[in-house]
Amino acid sequence: ENNEEIEFSPSMLTEMAGELHNALEQASEPSTKEQKSALRKKRRQLKELEAHRDKLQEYNNHLDNLQDRNSYSKTDKEATFMRMKEDAMRNGQTKPGYNLQIATENQFIIDYSLFPNPTDTLTMIPFLKSFADRYGQLAHTVVADSGYGSEENYHFMSENGMEAYVKYNYFHMEQRPRFKPNPFKAENFFYNEEQDYCVCPMGQKMQRVGTRHTKTESGYVVEYARYRAVRCEGCPLRCLCFKAKGNRTIELNHRLRIYKQKARELLCSEEGLKHRGQRCIEPEAVFGQIKYNMNYKRFRHFGKDKVLMDFSFLAIAFNIKKMCTKMNKEGINWLIKHLYGLITDHLSYREQNNRDYLLNIAA
Ligand code: SF4
Repeated sequence: ENNEEIEFSPSMLTEMAGELHNALEQASEPSTKEQKSALRKKRRQLKELEAHRDKLQEYNNHLDNLQDRNSYSKTDKEATFMRMKEDAMRNGQTKPGYNLQIATENQFIIDYSLFPNPTDTLTMIPFLKSFADRYGQLAHTVVADSGYGSEENYHFMSENGMEAYVKYNYFHMEQRPRFKPNPFKAENFFYNEEQDYCVCPMGQKMQRVGTRHTKTESGYVVEYARYRAVRCEGCPLRCLCFKAKGNRTIELNHRLRIYKQKARELLCSEEGLKHRGQRCIEPEAVFGQIKYNMNYKRFRHFGKDKVLMDFSFLAIAFNIKKMCTKMNKEGINWLIKHLYGLITDHLSYREQNNRDYLLNIAA
């Protein structure tokens, strides 16, 4: 018996429906009641097949629109449903949108990009690459919050010689004066790097028993080393340590541990403290000014290209506004008037040229 699964495509179903249709057309006229009812049944089945073909085509179209996403909006197929910070109904409702990433320096927007994925972790590498496309080189120093602190991102920045002042999960917790690390957490177990073993809170040696690999959505391979205790039975700390049966097995990500250590050193250095202090008045302040001072909380177009154009205009206007404020503060506002004069002269010259061109066409 052949149990092989066949994956039907809409074109295969169209072909089959066509053949069945022809066969029914060419069949002789039914004479008996049974033959008539059999013919009716076959026609009904043919209609069902066509309906299934249409549904399959519809699902394929949905999958083409989705690509790597889990959802998309029917009104703007490039927008993905995401949870928004602004949640008037307080029910965690999702709305179609884009994940906008911006890079700032001295509160000037120096780069921006739109992403379909709501989590920030996966946006960092493409965003750093977009910066390189725009300026012809990768950024030398990167300051970002813990939403970007993944092994893959640290790896990319380390491979490209970037200074990564990027926080990781629990960095803030670690910095609290009363913070005490949980001794039963696997990453807090003593680890002997030379001989590759761990020691549990009871002082038992945990030997390496294997390795597990996982792939991130972008295809990056993460490696977890596994260690297992020899005998947990009868341990007085058992109830505090773990709940599963048998002996405790832990998994450690050594590469991430080293990257975190490096990030911690950088973030706690003098330069790191300066960058951390600056971060909250850099992109956050820019977002605050855009959303609350300028009341720009929604994009006014559909489609990624148009939305990007929409934000590009805003970014240009924002930077000009910022420049004027800075010039005003520094008492060089005469320069603004001069620049304004140059721009209006240029625009009126362009307008005159366009008018002449139109007149020539009309003539
Ligand atoms: S339960 Fe096992 S792993 Fe946990 S402290 Fe006791 S001996 Fe160590």
